[in-house]
Amino acid sequence: MKRIYVDLDDVISRTTDTYSAVIEQEFGRQVRFEDLTCFDLKVSFQLTDREYRHFFDRIHQPDLLMGFDLVPGAKEMMARWIEAGHRVDIVTGRPPSAREASLAWLDRQRIPFSEFIMVDKYNRSGEDHPGVISKTRLMARLYDLAVEDSLDTALFLAEEMGVQVLLYDRPWNARPVIYPNITRVTSWQDIAALTCCP
Ligand SMILES: [Mg+2]
Repeated sequence: MKRIYVDLDDVISRTTDTYSAVIEQEFGRQVRFEDLTCFDLKVSFQLTDREYRHFFDRIHQPDLLMGFDLVPGAKEMMARWIEAGHRVDIVTGRPPSAREASLAWLDRQRIPFSEFIMVDKYNRSGEDHPGVISKTRLMARLYDLAVEDSLDTALFLAEEMGVQVLLYDRPWNARPVIYPNITRVTSWQDIAALTCCP
């Protein structure tokens, strides 16, 4: 039995694909997905503080969270892992306000998983929020394998937690990473080929 960590945004749900449309709608600006070379969306979309606050609120509203498409192959691979007896946790850095809509979306899309865990991955909340654990508390959990698209989080998992990480290739993590525990993957087909069946 393996303990597997799967990130939600841009690994299971096509989140950032949706953001370009939001930027165009809210600010009348066009940004291509390939140009989103920074994980910090404020930088990638060149938003002022005020614009970013508006954008952040907008992208965490339930109607938007419910509208995401699936990353192809994610659901099928997670189902295979669960069938094979592995533990598959969804570990997200979404804010606590997004909990209900996130769970509703996972349910609507029939994504199989063992546990849904909210972690303060980006050190957003100064203090503890109920239902959200700190990175320090995440370290107490043991994982054998993780699928992530955030380079900082991938490094944290690999270096601090000794997890084997599959870094899901995205424009914002495109810089070369040479780390023994991190393998870049470009699709869930890649992941299936690499891990079948851990
Ligand atoms: Mg992500």
